[in-house]
Amino acid sequence: MMLIIRCAKCKRKLFKYKKIGAGRLLHLWPDRIVEDHSIHDGLEIRCQCGNLIGVDERKFIKMKPRSFVRSGSYVRK
Ligand SMILES: [Zn+2]
Repeated sequence: MMLIIRCAKCKRKLFKYKKIGAGRLLHLWPDRIVEDHSIHDGLEIRCQCGNLIGVDERKFIKMKPRSFVRSGSYVRK
């Protein structure tokens, strides 16, 4: 499933992300990030508007709840 992750405040596109399985989006695994338009400020992941989206935990990005919105579609083969 390919997800588009947008800032909840300004609706800017932040990530294009390949999600495995259903359910909530709590972490972003680096090898599944297809596009990254976020700002990496040290360990903080922010939108260009300044909204804090998550924290870089090295193994993954820990997403901050309600800081982002997601939309996605199943890719048909
Ligand atoms: Zn924003």
